Amino acid sequence: MGEVPPTHPRYKSLMARKMLTDAAAAGLLADSALIAHGRGEAFDYLLGEMTCRSAREAIRETAAHLLAAKQPVISLNGNSVALAASELLACAAVLGCAIEINIYYRTPERMAALLSTMEQRKNEAAEHFPELKSQIIAVPILGANPDTKIPNLDGPRANCHSDGIFAADVILVPLEDGDRCEALVAMGKTVCVIDLNPLSRTAKMATVTIVDELTRCAPLLLDDLQKGMIAPNDNWNNEYNLHEVTKQMLRILE
Ligand code: ATP
Ligand code: MG
Repeated sequence: MGEVPPTHPRYKSLMARKMLTDAAAAGLLADSALIAHGRGEAFDYLLGEMTCRSAREAIRETAAHLLAAKQPVISLNGNSVALAASELLACAAVLGCAIEINIYYRTPERMAALLSTMEQRKNEAAEHFPELKSQIIAVPILGANPDTKIPNLDGPRANCHSDGIFAADVILVPLEDGDRCEALVAMGKTVCVIDLNPLSRTAKMATVTIVDELTRCAPLLLDDLQKGMIAPNDNWNNEYNLHEVTKQMLRILE
């Protein structure tokens, strides 16, 4: 995006749009992906496009759950691959866990494009995070051969790997859909989500909700994971955290 200088006040937002439109052109995204991003942008404007204190706490809590997990997994859709593949690969590398691609509008072409993009992004991630290079290269990218289903969920988005999402005790899902979040919680999993809309069904259903923009919070999550040694808070109150973020968004009315 040569025409937009990094000093442009909307530089980050414009770059994110560029990453998504490029990904759409490469066949990685469903048509509705750009609409979902636009909804996120609107909420981010209300947040002042900053990681608020409540979001920072939710990032720490998510890191704590992932570090304490027996078998964590990171589930990615098209938007999260387009926006934050490198950082999320680095998170999986630190955790020694798999990444599973799971998309709402599943077509063989889009799945193949996302899986090969993830394999390509491993090199870019290894360059960004050289200290994690061998672990990044070793991150299993699942999604090609789902052999089981998430119970009580309609459609192809229920398809998953028995050694991936199905078996995981803790799952990180950026930009999850409400129905699937509910079904994962019903399976007894600890579900940590990233969603800029604190009012969405996803935000309300999840065990821990990070109300922050994906590209902004992924490096912070990686930081927390690399520091390690954080215990999950038994008294985590997700509803309270969402309430605090919503208050933050409405502060302009005060
Ligand atoms: P739900 O299914 O949870 O009731 P929804 O149907 O309104 O919510 P979806 O279209 O399923 O929403 O998912 C898009 C969600 O992802 C939106 O809530 C949006 O705020 C959020 N989102 C989009 N882009 C980003 C981003 N870059 N970072 C964080 N959140 C994002
Ligand atoms: Mg939805």
